Amino acid sequence: MSFTLAIVGRPNVGKSTLFNRLVGKKLALVDDQPGVTRDLREGEARLGDLRFTVIDSAGLEDATDNSLEGRMRRLTERAVEMADVCLFIIDARAGVTPTDEMFAEILRKKSAHVILAANKSEGSAADAGVIEAYGLGLGEPIRMSGEHGEGLNDLYSELLPVSEKFEKLAEETAPATDVVLDEDENEAFNEGEEIAATPVPTMEKPLQVAVVGRPNAGKSTLINKILGEDRLLTGPEAGITRDAISLKIDWSGTPMRIFDTAGMRKKAKVQEKLEKLSVSDGLRAVKFAEVVVVLLDAAIPFEQQDLRIADLAEREGRAVVVAVNKWDIEDEKQEKLKALKEAFERLLPQLRGAPLVTVSAKTGRGLDRLHAAIMKAHDVWNRRVPTAALNRWLAGMLEQHPPPAPQGKRIKLRYMTQAKTRPPGFVVMCSHPDKMPASYNRYLVNGLREDFDMPGTPIRLTLRGQG
Ligand code: GDP
Ligand code: GDP
Repeated sequence: MSFTLAIVGRPNVGKSTLFNRLVGKKLALVDDQPGVTRDLREGEARLGDLRFTVIDSAGLEDATDNSLEGRMRRLTERAVEMADVCLFIIDARAGVTPTDEMFAEILRKKSAHVILAANKSEGSAADAGVIEAYGLGLGEPIRMSGEHGEGLNDLYSELLPVSEKFEKLAEETAPATDVVLDEDENEAFNEGEEIAATPVPTMEKPLQVAVVGRPNAGKSTLINKILGEDRLLTGPEAGITRDAISLKIDWSGTPMRIFDTAGMRKKAKVQEKLEKLSVSDGLRAVKFAEVVVVLLDAAIPFEQQDLRIADLAEREGRAVVVAVNKWDIEDEKQEKLKALKEAFERLLPQLRGAPLVTVSAKTGRGLDRLHAAIMKAHDVWNRRVPTAALNRWLAGMLEQHPPPAPQGKRIKLRYMTQAKTRPPGFVVMCSHPDKMPASYNRYLVNGLREDFDMPGTPIRLTLRGQG
């Protein structure tokens, strides 16, 4: 299974030039069937050892009237729907235009995975445009020159994990014995829905949640409780793949895809060494997830294994919720909770501010709070702070605590923008970024977390020199 990359952007930014480079030959408009793909051309791309399908939105130049914007919008949405990942190109020489902003907005809403490229970046005339591109809120732009073949290495680095993910998926879904889970779930989920009037109903993307924790923490009990019945985990057809197990559920009106691992497998009577499995399995689940629920057993919380997986979730940039299970059998709940919170702060300082909720998977108590915590964590993980507000905030922070002046030279922090979400990542343009002490970095990160209410999500802050 290979993936599909859509190249999108306004006319003249260099999409076709790049398309031709990736496809390796001058392709004329190949697809003139009427209908869906009329304005989209498709080719088989090679980049290093990667092979994938690339779609380019061509044909826009013909539209000279004021229907252009509408057409671009429709075309882009269509390309995004067809693609697994989008490469959004701007012209760094022209800088960010209002049309680019419109594209960025579409992509932020519609696409799970966007790579931003500032094209025509050969030479220094493009520098300002590259910096502006950060402001689109789509992450760090690749400096690219499609015409000169620059930036393709960076594009390769961005696409490599996508390709690997798809290869893994292909492996998982290939053998017939590895039943691919949730078709039934999916149907059941759809049944309750109204048929939308539009020909292509867009279903809300399920929120991807991983439930991780040591064996016997209560993962499968929890998931069964959420499902409300024991229908799932009874047989090998219950949705078992070789490496990752996921199922789509509707939890209090929220479509979710839940990844769980060893716990479910045990129920499916697959013989495996659970102890050994749970870490590497948890790792897989974490990679697929947006929110990771670290499920602890209240009787033995914060075991080595729990700490490792929580740390991994943080390093992978996932939103984290800590749930303490089997709360039904605890007495002295107040004291216990206090001790848990202390242990949490001490043992997992990197997850500062992440929610800790107590639950009983057995009785269902606390599951509503867990749901709320997951939603909030997901929301924060996706949070975007407007550039103007950030820079006002930065000014305040600088005033309150000026940055240090190593060897008499004060580090100047000039400008700040949120370069990405999921998790939130910020870029600060400054002088002497290499001289900045880690403590000042922490001061800013903690400030961001406090002042913009972003608990439970890793926050990345990058300093970048200008010049
Ligand atoms: P599209 O409308 O987005 O498909 O853009 P094209 O690929 O047709 O390119 C538009 C114009 O930009 C053409 O004149 C290209 O030669 C030029 N162009 C494309 N890529 C680059 C680049 O990397 N650097 C420079 N300077 N010009 C480029
Ligand atoms: P997994 O290995 O993480 O999937 O754990 P299981 O869901 O198989 O649960 C392990 C054991 O803990 C089982 O005996 C469950 O009945 C028990 N258990 C799970 N959740 C709770 C809970 O909230 N309260 C109590 N008292 N027992 C629980």
